[in-house]
Amino acid sequence: MNQKQKDRLKKKLLKEKEEILKKMSEIRSEGKEIEPGIAQDAGDKAESSYAKEFLFELSDTERELLIQIDNALKKIDKDDFGVCEMCQKDISSKRLNAVPWALYCINCQEKEERKSY
Ligand SMILES: [Zn+2]
Repeated sequence: MNQKQKDRLKKKLLKEKEEILKKMSEIRSEGKEIEPGIAQDAGDKAESSYAKEFLFELSDTERELLIQIDNALKKIDKDDFGVCEMCQKDISSKRLNAVPWALYCINCQEKEERKSY
């Protein structure tokens, strides 16, 4: 992975981060609109709590991704970007292009996923 590729991925990461932050603030303002009190009857209440749960889950996932993106940006600055955290081998640039915040190479990722089943 050369400097040029890193710069490109850094830009991509920053853009992704920006989009998540934008989405998160949109979710937050939407969340305000479905505060209890607005929904009057029982049917509306059920619907609004369902929507809240859904938004909460969504923002949780985004938050997780945000942490991973920040982590990747730090790595680019420290110059240890693109190295698998498990086996210390280089992560393929093809994989990094698809998932710039990947922590593990594809082999280790698959091992991890198998473990969690
Ligand atoms: Zn690995």
